Amino acid sequence: MIRLAEGVHRLESGGFVNSYLITGGSDLTLIDAGPARRAPALLAELKANGYSPTDIGRVVVTHVHADHVGGLSLLLTQRHIRVFAHPLEIPALTGLVPVPSLRGPLGFLVETFAEQFLPWKPVEAAFPTEPGHPVRGLPQWQVLHTPGHTAGSLSLYEPVRQILLCGDLLSNRGGRLHPVAGSLNRDPGAVERSLKAVSAMDVDILGCGHGPEVRGGAFRHIEKLVPA
Ligand SMILES: [Zn+2]
Ligand SMILES: [Zn+2]
Repeated sequence: MIRLAEGVHRLESGGFVNSYLITGGSDLTLIDAGPARRAPALLAELKANGYSPTDIGRVVVTHVHADHVGGLSLLLTQRHIRVFAHPLEIPALTGLVPVPSLRGPLGFLVETFAEQFLPWKPVEAAFPTEPGHPVRGLPQWQVLHTPGHTAGSLSLYEPVRQILLCGDLLSNRGGRLHPVAGSLNRDPGAVERSLKAVSAMDVDILGCGHGPEVRGGAFRHIEKLVPA
């Protein structure tokens, strides 16, 4: 795993999808669970770093897409682990409603790929978290609602060290920071507004759902992506 800061690591076992590990409290927090078939590798990565599945206290889900929630089913065989998500994502996360579909030919392609290669199962229950309603056990981190990619996409922000974990609001695949392709966002207008809000924040280290982290004055890179 890659260290972003003391107690904040990016897990490498997810392949093209990032999960983050936050340590330092009495237990561990995972941000996103990665694809289902990478879940054994995720647990192996934790084990290689001295942690066991019983150390995980909670998983915060940035949004309900199969590449970020597939690993939950294996993790939740540990019955004590709690799942947190924005209230707008919980109906899809718990299987009450289908995951809203993507738009256009690219969206169709991605969904066809996901159905075949990224199976996932809804969870039985999830706890809501949103701005002003932090995740229990994670008091140093603020929850931001950064909708657009999905309606209830959230980001996590640690203001002391200015770390932002933004899910799929931005991608850094290939080391090139960019917004996720338009048709893969439910509401491109909302993505622009979320980006604008985030670009006004002090962000030193940025961790995206895909690709490596951006270190040292990440806000400068985010600013450039906001449409004039
Ligand atoms: Zn996504
Ligand atoms: Zn993603």
